[in-house]
Amino acid sequence: MSGARFAIEIRERYGDVVRDRWSVSIDPQPDELLSSWLHRLAIANGIAPRPFAGVLGLGDGMGSSRLDHSLTHGVATLLQQQADIATEALSAMTMTGPALTPLLLPLRENVRPNRSTWTQYCPQCLAGDQAPYFRRHWRLATRISCFVHGRGLRDRCPACRSGIASFDQTDLMPQHFCARCAFALRTASKVFVKTSARRLERSIDDICKVGMAKGSMTIGDLTSRLLGAPVIAGVSLGKTLTNLSTSSRIRCFEWLADKPVGWLTADEDDAVARRRRLVLAAGGHDRLIAHFSDFMDTHQGSPRSVRSPPTGADLAALLAAYSRATDDAIQTKRHRVLAVPRG
Ligand SMILES: [Zn+2]
Ligand SMILES: [Zn+2]
Repeated sequence: MSGARFAIEIRERYGDVVRDRWSVSIDPQPDELLSSWLHRLAIANGIAPRPFAGVLGLGDGMGSSRLDHSLTHGVATLLQQQADIATEALSAMTMTGPALTPLLLPLRENVRPNRSTWTQYCPQCLAGDQAPYFRRHWRLATRISCFVHGRGLRDRCPACRSGIASFDQTDLMPQHFCARCAFALRTASKVFVKTSARRLERSIDDICKVGMAKGSMTIGDLTSRLLGAPVIAGVSLGKTLTNLSTSSRIRCFEWLADKPVGWLTADEDDAVARRRRLVLAAGGHDRLIAHFSDFMDTHQGSPRSVRSPPTGADLAALLAAYSRATDDAIQTKRHRVLAVPRG
């Protein structure tokens, strides 16, 4: 692994770094996590990530990961001045949206068997990145696979079993190398996840997005149901979803995928329950949009443009329209059957 290390280390520049505008600015990647961007920024400026945390006044431990949850005014100002980045771009990399905070994997430095670690990764995403980086959605306990590559996420280094500890990196090493043993994480083997479990995962992701976009009063109830999913599935009894390792959550989703969806819909408002059942039955809103488009083509001659998937509140409105349209079609069919003259 020695070939992965950069030959030049410029640690004596720490003092200079605080005073001077940093020589290299980098743009955030799509959905990049703030701590991931900070890692890349540090290395681009010739500083290893752990001492760079000192430059930001974060101290030892998971300082940069804590910033993902709570970006202080002082650090934000320093980064704007020194790294030429806009406030909005910084905010977009944090995980501070209130609705789904309960579903974030807890910040946890010590790794215990079958327990969650603070983040996950897709080896193939890291392999495909020009500048490997960690995604914000990998922090969610409801995510178990990669939507791009269709394989399971990982939450540990397969070589030494430690969690991701890039905040602790004392060498000029990109973050796709394990900070503990330097294993190349992007070469980790693929993890198989049943198609049914990935459909359930995608549906849950979409249901959460709709709930957030609508500012739904039921989002708290939804997160409670999701946190209790392992109890429903009988996997690691007593632990909530956020406390389980990725492999345990994959088992949990695979079990739940074959069961009735009542655990996500029971005792819910009729419209909400129906919308969730539609998304769950279709396996996500992209598939539902396709069904809707086909339905409109057949029954109402709607243009194909509806196949472009909307997001958030638009999606909620579209699902409601789909419900109404299918109801109308059923009613029309009933009337036609009733109107058939007896022979
Ligand atoms: Zn991937
Ligand atoms: Zn390792």
